[in-house]
Parts: sequence; C-alpha cells; structure tokens
Amino acid sequence: LSSTKTESRLNQMEEKLLNTLIDKGLRETKPRRRDTMILYTGLEELTDQINEVEMRKLLRSLTAKGYMAEKNYDSAILCPNCASLKVYSKYSCPNCQSNYVSKVQLLEHITCGYMGSNAEFEKEDVLACPKCRTVIAETKESNVGALESGNIRIIGSSFVCDKCGSKFEKPLTTHFCDKCGSSFTYKEAVYLKLPAYELTEKVEALAPKRYVTETLRRVENALTAKGFKVELDARVKGKSGVEQRFDLTASKDQKLMLLDASAWGNQGDLISLLGKKTDVDANLIVLIDLYGSPNLASLGKPYKIAVIDGRDEKYIGVLSNLVDEMLKEEPEKRTSHLKRWLPR
Ligand SMILES: [Zn+2]
Ligand SMILES: [Zn+2]
Ligand SMILES: [Zn+2]
Repeated sequence: LSSTKTESRLNQMEEKLLNTLIDKGLRETKPRRRDTMILYTGLEELTDQINEVEMRKLLRSLTAKGYMAEKNYDSAILCPNCASLKVYSKYSCPNCQSNYVSKVQLLEHITCGYMGSNAEFEKEDVLACPKCRTVIAETKESNVGALESGNIRIIGSSFVCDKCGSKFEKPLTTHFCDKCGSSFTYKEAVYLKLPAYELTEKVEALAPKRYVTETLRRVENALTAKGFKVELDARVKGKSGVEQRFDLTASKDQKLMLLDASAWGNQGDLISLLGKKTDVDANLIVLIDLYGSPNLASLGKPYKIAVIDGRDEKYIGVLSNLVDEMLKEEPEKRTSHLKRWLPR
C-alpha cells in the first residue's frame, strides 16, 4: 500500500481528529450550537482542548487532503466585531432606522367572521374576539396555538414606525451582538457556512476494516440468535475448486447465505461478490453497503444480490426478513424470494 506516504502528510491533530471519529464508530460529523459555540458531533472534547476556530480549520484541511468531504448543512450569523455567535435580531424602520416599530396584523376570527387588527384582539393577557368575546388564546404573545386550531387566521401584516409614523410591509433587520453590544446589518455580518463532514475512503488506511468489523459482529449476533451457524471471514470451496472468501456465511436447515460488507460503497465490492456468486451456490447473497451508495442497490438487483443500506438503522431487520424468507423457500426456488424483499 502506498498509503504510508499520504498518511505522513497528516499532522498530529488531524490524525487525532480522524481517530476520535473512527474510535466512536462515526462516519460523519455535524455542526451543533452549544451556547455561544459551534461544536461538531463526536468532537466536543477535542474542541475544548483546542478551540472551535482551530477545529474548523482542521476540518477544512482534512477536506483539502481528501480524508473528509463537505456536505451542505447549516450556516450562522457571526458578529463582525468579536466573532460571537450570540447574535439576535430586531426590526427597524426603513425610513428613520428606529428600532421602535410595531407589527400590525389583520386577523379574522373564523367562527364569527370578525376582522380587526391584533390590537383589537388583545385583551389584557389573553387573545379574545372583540365581537363574540370568545377567548382564542391564553396568551397574547403567541397566537400559534389559535392559528393551528383554526380559530383565527392572519389576513395581512405590516409595520408602523413608532418614531416617524411611516407604514411599511417589510422592515429592515438589524443584528445585535450580545457579547460586545455592537449592532450591524446583513451587509456587515459575518455569514459563516457550517458544513457537515463525511469521512472518505482514505481513512480506511488509518483503521482497516474498522467499520466493516462492527457491522459483521452485529450480523453475527442477530443470526446466531436465530439459530444460524455463522462464520466470519469464511472460506467456501467453489465449483471451480477455488476457495472463495466471504466476510460472513450463515447456514441453517441446508440453506446457505453468503454476505460481504462494503465500507465505502465501491462498485468493485459488488462485482467481486458477483464473481464469487457464480462459483458458489447459495440461497441468498447479500451485500451490506455501509456507505448507503444510491446506485449499488439497483446494480445488484438484476444479479439477485440483495444490497442492504447499512446506514439505515433497521438494516438488521431487513436482513432478518431476507433470511426468514430464505428458510421458507423450497430448495429449488433459490434466490426467487429476493424479489419481494429487495430494498426499493
Ligand atoms: Zn368572534
Ligand atoms: Zn421611522
Ligand atoms: Zn460582538
């Protein structure tokens, strides 16, 4: 393997980050907000050791080196003065920039048909219809419940500036930083892309078979519980006389299942299984695709190889259904049950 050369290009922190995810069995990491911080799932402790800016730099450099792939996920508004995430927004008047603007809604009480401004519906602490006096919501600060129950609907909304008196449909949005107190517009704001990061096949060199091993152990447990004789890293002598290797075989009542697992959804894994399938007779051939590659399942179908999406948490259940069907089948009808249980 030439991977030693590429591996050496990782610095210590980059390697630590990858190993942290690998050790936790994670294949991707997603940004989450925690108070004023952006933390990546599974990397929280590591972020505490360095800091979130360094963490984002590491993720980007690992992407540049091909160990991770970016996926669109989230974005955040940051203070342009102090880079804080603790930013809140207010509406302001497009005419005089005052933040003292009122929102005026035109509401309709559906049951009696009365229409009026929200001010007319607001009675002390409750939202009530001024005509029929029905209490619509227990708090005037939220009419979501009333809207959901269908009692009122918003016919229109606009804004009025309390300072200069102008009326407008669309207010300006001003952002405020809770940390340093500065205010800024969308033009001045730092708008940060927060992608999710997915590990790529390149990490296989750091932890060969790591993801496959865990999956096979789960399959082994599930099938052993069903009374199957399960063998990991099994050798089966083919019709050609060649010993074929499978990640897992399971047998019961004269029925045989052959299974391989694909860590990164490579077509080569399917083709290799197809080659072995022509040499070894079995009742069920399964490829568990841990990458959830969209085209492997359709590629396997004409060859009667059941490709199971290993990213779907229910994959053990899908496999269970397949082996149950296999046991029910007449011996000569081998693999016909696949039609019914093939995913999608
Ligand atoms: Zn009413
Ligand atoms: Zn104004
Ligand atoms: Zn700030």
